[in-house]
Amino acid sequence: MAAFGTMGQMETARHIYSEEPWLARKKLSTGVLTALSSKNGEGLLVSSFAIRGILDFWLDMTSSYSRPVLRFAPSPNGYLHLGHAYSALMNGLIARETGGRLLLRMEDIDFARCRPEFEAAIIEDLEWLGLSWEQPVRRQAEHFPFYAEALERLENMGVVYPCFCSRGDIMTAIAFKKDWPRDPDGTPLYPGICRHLSRGSRAQRFAHGEKASYRLDMERALSAVSDGLTWTEFRDGPTGRQEHAVPAVWGDAVLSRKDIATSYHIAVVVDDAYQGVTDVVRGEDLFMATSLHRLLQVLLRLPAPFYHHHRLLRDAMGQKLSKSSRAQPLRAFRQDGWSVQELVAKINLPAAAMGDALASTGRIVRP
Ligand SMILES: [Zn+2]
Repeated sequence: MAAFGTMGQMETARHIYSEEPWLARKKLSTGVLTALSSKNGEGLLVSSFAIRGILDFWLDMTSSYSRPVLRFAPSPNGYLHLGHAYSALMNGLIARETGGRLLLRMEDIDFARCRPEFEAAIIEDLEWLGLSWEQPVRRQAEHFPFYAEALERLENMGVVYPCFCSRGDIMTAIAFKKDWPRDPDGTPLYPGICRHLSRGSRAQRFAHGEKASYRLDMERALSAVSDGLTWTEFRDGPTGRQEHAVPAVWGDAVLSRKDIATSYHIAVVVDDAYQGVTDVVRGEDLFMATSLHRLLQVLLRLPAPFYHHHRLLRDAMGQKLSKSSRAQPLRAFRQDGWSVQELVAKINLPAAAMGDALASTGRIVRP
């Protein structure tokens, strides 16, 4: 690692920092590496300089550099665990090392499960990790009109329809169908019961007070976009590779629920665009969702961010850490006296994240 940090590159770095006021500002901000370094992380300090050297070398090589915008977007429906810490630190690290901006977004549309005390706890945990982000924090629950507008645009395009089905209706419809396909989350694909209801019968059901979710008409949506949906994924090396989106695996996905007038998919693509996010860095459990997100972005004419889906932390049984699997909360480690540095070593962040960070920022050498 240290081999990267040659004196020449360090000189380049100093030169750039003196030329670019915002880079200099960022350098002084309380990013994760500052926090780590100040806790006697000698090895980390070396790595930090090494990576900065090579990144600045790249900055110097390109004139088309634009300032990356990253975000960490937890749901305040529980405490953060080590997997969240890994993702948050990775975003912070990449933002810092590229002179980018780090945003924090609370994905709190599920008001039955999200609570203000969890949001406060998340902020406390992130600050403890040494992260800093721009204000204000965006709360999705405050922006339902944005998501409604996006849904309305899709509806006007004829690629969204109301669905009155309960879960039971769907299970009944597919009960005797052998090997009925499921989406990547394991939910059976929607069998299309409400897809072709007449305008009259929809109006009638609404008039009777029935509530509807809204589903994407996948077939129509796919025919509304020109072929070759792709995205740029940064994974194993300094150059991104083109991934082919396969949104059809999601079938007629729910874009707005009966009880919540949006969905994760709509809210995330609208917010990433609204906040100008250039680099979506998140766990690989969302890799397949990106196919659907790309389709929505094209339909809504939103810009395509770069993506980096990082590895997931797993428990001793090989299961990914999650709130539902009762992963030990980050704050429990803190209360047990762990330092940030020990925790970072435990989640193997430095080597993995720095490799990933390099990969994720390789795009700045693009022509
Ligand atoms: Zn239905």
